[in-house]
Amino acid sequence: MNNSEIKERDKKYVCNTYNRFNVALKQGKGCECTDFNGKTYIDFTSGIGVNSIGFCNEKWAKAVYEGLTTLSHTSNLFYTSPCGELAEKLCVNTHFKKVFFANSGAEANEGAIKCARKYSQDKYGKSRYEILSLVNSFHGRTISTLSMTGQNVFHDKYNPLTEGFNYAEANNFSDVIAKITNNTAAVIMELVQGEGGVIKLNSDFVKSVYNYCKENDILFIVDEVQTGIGRTGKLFAYEHFNIEPDIVTCAKGIGGGLPLGAVLFNDKTQNVFGYSDHATTFGGNPAICKGALVVLDTLTEEFLYEITEKGNYIKEQVTKMPHVKSVSGLGLMLGVELADYINAKDIVNSCIESGLLILTAKTKLRFLPPLNISYEEIDKGLSVLKDVLNNYKK
Ligand code: PLP
Repeated sequence: MNNSEIKERDKKYVCNTYNRFNVALKQGKGCECTDFNGKTYIDFTSGIGVNSIGFCNEKWAKAVYEGLTTLSHTSNLFYTSPCGELAEKLCVNTHFKKVFFANSGAEANEGAIKCARKYSQDKYGKSRYEILSLVNSFHGRTISTLSMTGQNVFHDKYNPLTEGFNYAEANNFSDVIAKITNNTAAVIMELVQGEGGVIKLNSDFVKSVYNYCKENDILFIVDEVQTGIGRTGKLFAYEHFNIEPDIVTCAKGIGGGLPLGAVLFNDKTQNVFGYSDHATTFGGNPAICKGALVVLDTLTEEFLYEITEKGNYIKEQVTKMPHVKSVSGLGLMLGVELADYINAKDIVNSCIESGLLILTAKTKLRFLPPLNISYEEIDKGLSVLKDVLNNYKK
């Protein structure tokens, strides 16, 4: 089959929720992939931050295969080894004490919402269930995570939304204080708003909200679905802010290409859920956890340092390109603000035509390359972008 045939079948039979690019990908290795017409691309997207160590990483695939051929799945009614090993690794490398495994970012956030409600209601009574999130945030597509997402554009078609969510402006501490009530159970934020345009929050703002929450026994939750697992040059982005959240959610990169989400609980929240309070059939699947262990083992101090270095290098190179106003983000999570007269989607399409896969976030270009991308591959991708921008005509 060629690209067009794949596309036509998809259009006919797959629910039309994705406005896909005009490419059907067939196979990939590391930071490169090939489409059904035989054309090759450099990948600056990693499946939106999922293929953290590239397409089909050999160690990862071997570990998953070993898991699949040893114990493909069992229910959570039985102990298995890989999920405990992964939870242990996540805890010993952080201040967290326990982990709940889910299958996606939205599902991890659902777990965080439930934990926050239960923690506060157990302690303060039934009316304490509100959660404050930030304007321009993104937390997922289930009805509750959509309700928690601070962007009206996602809300309008799905009323009534889940009750109990309020939104405060990012980087506006007074607005946070104004929106917190006696019924606020938790505050949640992405420390670099990803879908919202790769916007890093102000450190003083984050610290002030964190301290206020701590003083008032309001849980401080960080959504690290996009920023976590090395993406920003630290295991978790909260480490850049010198805080220790009560709950962190992650997904995307942890599975390295397979569906895995996790909710991390600290001292305060580790025992909120008891038997039957929360569950999911596939959470902690042994084969997926074996792959995730390879991802975590890759994230040595040196590897994380390199992520920051590579991110800085890309920033430096892209800032010098024509029509670029600024570059935002942390590590290998980068947003490129273009001149107002340019539509970022046009640039993305031209880059794809020239063999570079990139993304958009709102009006920006967005890069989320595999974390192990080499400088040679970075240069190859950036030269495509530079040519596209050089040839851009108003
Ligand atoms: N939270 C953040 C910060 C995200 O970026 C996303 C996805 O883009 C989600 C939650 C939802 O994750 P998933 O699509 O795995 O449900």
